[in-house]
Amino acid sequence: MKRALRLPTAPAVEIVEVGPRDGLQNEAVLLGTDAKIALIARAVAAGARRIEATSFVHPRLVPQMADAEAVMAGVERSPDVRYAGLVLNARGLERAVASGVDEVNCVVVATETFSRRNQSMSVAESIGVVEHVARERAGTALGLSVTIAVSFGCPFEGEVAPEAVVEIARRVAALGVDEISLADTIGVGVPAQVEVLVAAVGAVAPEQRLRIHLHNTRNTGYANAVAAHAAGVQTFDSSLGGIGGCPFAPAATGNIATEDLVHLFERSGISTGLDLDRLLDDSAWLAGQLGADLPSLLPRAGAFPALVAR
Ligand code: ZN
Repeated sequence: MKRALRLPTAPAVEIVEVGPRDGLQNEAVLLGTDAKIALIARAVAAGARRIEATSFVHPRLVPQMADAEAVMAGVERSPDVRYAGLVLNARGLERAVASGVDEVNCVVVATETFSRRNQSMSVAESIGVVEHVARERAGTALGLSVTIAVSFGCPFEGEVAPEAVVEIARRVAALGVDEISLADTIGVGVPAQVEVLVAAVGAVAPEQRLRIHLHNTRNTGYANAVAAHAAGVQTFDSSLGGIGGCPFAPAATGNIATEDLVHLFERSGISTGLDLDRLLDDSAWLAGQLGADLPSLLPRAGAFPALVAR
């Protein structure tokens, strides 16, 4: 007798909700502080346990994030939920720590041109910022992630050599960061690149957790997520509704959408810990807040099967 085919029990993945930060910072509509806090509360209620809540950058550069302190003061705290803030310099770190974030996310850009445009400093200087943060957080519970931006291609310099990304990863790993995130900031990556880069970075950063940050600008975001998972990545960034972009990258579009990613993983037998029905409600709510249809597709097509027992 034939035995029924069973999907292997895949390890659970962690989805970091980045809608409140990377998502909102490129939206034309300025969301009020209360709406941002509500968005975060909804993400938590849907099961998110790690949220990039805000960015401690200069309000002149990113007006949407000017209320970083107020957002952090307004979110409900629980030992189960970790809030991260983006930090690009020492002043940002001070603000993030004073606001009580659980972890900070620093950005090192893989190319000099984008680094100057995005954070007005050289690549070496931004690694210096990571060094500063690593020193300051020593002996504290503060988590430290480093995102390597434009890892898969740069809007100004074009192709990015994997060696450049690997060298940055090697240097920040030596500073003892907890996690390295490979970011496809402008959504040009393809699965074959993901496979190569994840393996190469993993080899020079064996102590670090690997995370991937994907944009769906050219419709390869979800294929890249599958490739990253197959290559061993277990932490994925996404934004509710697929909102977002980057104010410093021309024509950048949204992150991969949380609800579409959850559909993809859960239907593949990979548990995410997120409640898809709630995410669909939240996505509709967010579309109302922003006054626009959002890029995600699941809200248009509907969950499948229509009623999923959970
Ligand atoms: Zn991004």
